[in-house]
Amino acid sequence: MSGRASTPSQEAPLQWRTATELARGLEARELSARDITAAIIEQSNAVEPVVRAYLKSTHERALESAVAADERWSRDTTLSSHDGVPLAYKDIFVTRGVATTCGSRILESWIPPYDATVVSRCEGAGLTSLGKLNLDEFAMGSSTENSAFGPSRNPWNTDCVPGGSSGGAAALVAAGGVPWAWGTDTGGSVRQPASLCGIVGVKPTYGRVSRYGLIAFASSLDQAGPMARSVEDAAALLQMAAGHDPMDATSIPREVPDYLEGIDEGISGMRIGIVKEFEGGGTQPGVRSKVEDAYRRLEKLGASLEEISLPSFEHGISAYYLIAPAEASSNLARYDGVRYGYRQADAADIVAMSSRTRAEGFGDEVKRRVMLGTYALSAGYYEAYYGKAQKVRTLIIEDLERAYSSVDLIVSPTSPTTAFKLGERTSNPLEMYLSDIFTVPVNLAGNAAISVPCGLSLDDGLPVGLQLIAPALDEKTMFRAAYAFEKDLGWAGTAESRPPL
Ligand code: GLN
Repeated sequence: MSGRASTPSQEAPLQWRTATELARGLEARELSARDITAAIIEQSNAVEPVVRAYLKSTHERALESAVAADERWSRDTTLSSHDGVPLAYKDIFVTRGVATTCGSRILESWIPPYDATVVSRCEGAGLTSLGKLNLDEFAMGSSTENSAFGPSRNPWNTDCVPGGSSGGAAALVAAGGVPWAWGTDTGGSVRQPASLCGIVGVKPTYGRVSRYGLIAFASSLDQAGPMARSVEDAAALLQMAAGHDPMDATSIPREVPDYLEGIDEGISGMRIGIVKEFEGGGTQPGVRSKVEDAYRRLEKLGASLEEISLPSFEHGISAYYLIAPAEASSNLARYDGVRYGYRQADAADIVAMSSRTRAEGFGDEVKRRVMLGTYALSAGYYEAYYGKAQKVRTLIIEDLERAYSSVDLIVSPTSPTTAFKLGERTSNPLEMYLSDIFTVPVNLAGNAAISVPCGLSLDDGLPVGLQLIAPALDEKTMFRAAYAFEKDLGWAGTAESRPPL
């Protein structure tokens, strides 16, 4: 039977309910936005000294907005079914009047004069923001250790990173400090931290969500994505912001389907591909065994699994680490000390000012990317590096198109490892880059993908994520499969899914 999904347990404490459950409580007039927001803020404050998720909290404003939402509920003038439900943003989304740093000293004092489209659409639906969350500087990283303001921590083990770059968002959602949040994913930055923190993370099709007001890293790869504690919430949050935006020429002018309609229809008869070239890939045994359990579960649910070959995928990381830095070097040219944020005050002339502003304002990883990108784009090397990487990108797109003629979805681990220790990979950038091995091809192709928890690794007790990759604009099939898997696994909403904080 088709129809809308139903979510069980209304009995969990408010901070552990999903946004969908909270919205139902509001609609039934059993809960007030004020009480919800206060309970979630209390949890947020309790876990913050441990996870360090925030760069800027806007709790007071959120409480005021909650009171306004309650008034709308009492007058039947609500803005949406989720009016008054709190959320938070990775600090890469531009927010009018609220400091936006992108994890960088160079934007430390910047107060944006406008809202990102994602932010204005969520505000228009009555969602209230608890604040701006930590990330690797300019979203370059996989651990939040590149944040100029210190790393966030994984609530499952605070010696470990939460992943990155949307690590603050993943840590806070996992720790019950906010039901859902917006992250961004250029090469895995929503999916990998979601996987490492045991939550759901979505990288929508390139162009599905407006990039207006999203601080640019690599413009042909960047995409905003929801992070939540259930597939249903992730789908509902995407629904709120997806769709064409005249302010972003790359946003797709197509209608957005109802992601929740039919989400519970199951996956009987669905054809799912396992990528031969992903075998190995440095995958830890504990991750491999959980993901293989997940494959068997998908089969049990009626899907047919088959091995597929995507030969170009092994070059994904190399192509990504040329294309992304090339675009970044160009995008970051705007931070020159003239227009935004930090300016080195003692320089004698404008060239020295700009160069010293950038030397002092950017961290090491950002400088590494700018140098890599500038080199890849330089005359004489352009064809050998950037040009070659673009050809690999085309091969990846073609490989995927071929695969989708025989399968509906592709599965893989989201990350080859569970959360790693703080400091473990900081001295070896290449090792850090390899954590993106399963996620970057999806950005290069522009497809949609989701990471959904598949339990805890038997090796270290840390969360493992399963990645489901869908053809462009087929988020509906992806959500349907992830939902069926999540329900059958029985993870979301259970005590087991909550980190032992
Ligand atoms: N870890 C990847 C990088 O450092 C991806 C980052 C992202 O998706 N923003 O480039």
